Amino acid sequence: DLRCSLGEPPRTLRIVLQSVRDSSGEMLKGIAVTVQDLTREVELNAAQSRFISNVSHELRTPLSNIKSYVETLYELGDKISNEEKNDFLGIANSETDRLTRLVNDVLDLSRLESRKEIQFKAMDLRPALEQTLRNYKLNAQDKNVNLEMDLEETLPTILGNWDLILQVLDNLVGNGLKFSSKGGKLKLSAYTWPDICRTSPIKDIHSAPHCELVSPLPRLRIEIADNGCGITDADQQRIFERFYRVENSVHTEVGTGLGLSIVKGIIEKHGSRIFMASEPNIGTTFWFDLPLEQADADELRLQAERREDDRIWNSLTSKLEINN
Ligand code: ADP
Repeated sequence: DLRCSLGEPPRTLRIVLQSVRDSSGEMLKGIAVTVQDLTREVELNAAQSRFISNVSHELRTPLSNIKSYVETLYELGDKISNEEKNDFLGIANSETDRLTRLVNDVLDLSRLESRKEIQFKAMDLRPALEQTLRNYKLNAQDKNVNLEMDLEETLPTILGNWDLILQVLDNLVGNGLKFSSKGGKLKLSAYTWPDICRTSPIKDIHSAPHCELVSPLPRLRIEIADNGCGITDADQQRIFERFYRVENSVHTEVGTGLGLSIVKGIIEKHGSRIFMASEPNIGTTFWFDLPLEQADADELRLQAERREDDRIWNSLTSKLEINN
């Protein structure tokens, strides 16, 4: 029973050799070789260990800060000024907030991964978009950032999970605001995309059944665009990774580096993908498409029609075969 790593990118293989004997068990008839590809298990184990070590590292920093300031206050309380006491309490307080953010993000991420079935319901996105902007109104006023909303007049109903979609909007708008400077602009848009869609199943039974698909079924596209600090090409490759934060090396905004991996996970659970375009000092736009309730019904109808065409086609060809 041996393991080895082979090739580039390396794959981990487990090779088991077993002797095969005759029924008396005395004569060796051959050797059975079983090769098992363990690459995925090894990668998952490594990712899990990396995640645990990152979480422990991130937890340790605020915890040790809280401990040292509270300890100083406890042991030297009568020797330090009121002003210093206030500073120390302020730091302990903001470190507690940081700890809470981190624990909440880790919980969200693990809940997302363990949830096999997510409830999707027909939902109107407009109130979710309006609620998100309302939540950030004061924050935007403080930063003097202009919040704009540009929505198609009648937004079609989508299929989604209300809480998770709100979490996505909250993260993306929160980030947009966080990385905007005074006088900046943040715009939330939603529109149907693509706007032309024509699917026409071909009913001619003499040709193989197929659908002429002019363009994919429409979905609702949501865009969150800011004209903030932007992200370099190198960082764009990594910001969806867990714990990756550009500010570790550049600026000092609060955050856990988990927000975008949560967003990515939620959008993927909705059968979609998140995209971004960014230019340093110009701004960043994130966008994603959500399935429409109607398009989903269309898709089901189309599949049923295809099945029906298949059925007619199959019965016709089997009759032809019998006649021949
Ligand atoms: P955090 O909790 O640190 O914000 P995220 O996963 O949400 O973590 O984001 C990862 C990193 O991506 C951020 O640290 C930031 O550097 C960068 N980023 C995300 N959104 C924006 C944005 N709108 N403009 C500029 N940088 C951004």
